[in-house]
Amino acid sequence: MKKGFIKIDSQRCKGCGLCVSVCPKGRIRIAEALNLKGYHPAEFQEDEMDKKGRCNACTLCALICPDVAIEVFRE
Ligand code: SF4
Ligand code: SF4
Repeated sequence: MKKGFIKIDSQRCKGCGLCVSVCPKGRIRIAEALNLKGYHPAEFQEDEMDKKGRCNACTLCALICPDVAIEVFRE
């Protein structure tokens, strides 16, 4: 199975939550901290113990992001 990870540009992100809602692995959450624009940005959860499994590099999060703030990497 493909595995991957994503990088989220927290300064581009407006915290809309679309990426959180589409991730089939539940790997993205909204951060408690604010970015420079005053939004709570999305952040990638890298916790290896998460039972939902790792990011599979499906790219759904990057495709749905209206601010092109997500890059997906395969490993
Ligand atoms: S690439 Fe897919 S599995 Fe990985 S964080 Fe994005 S939506 Fe989730
Ligand atoms: S879809 Fe894009 S703008 Fe919306 S929370 Fe995710 S990274 Fe941020």
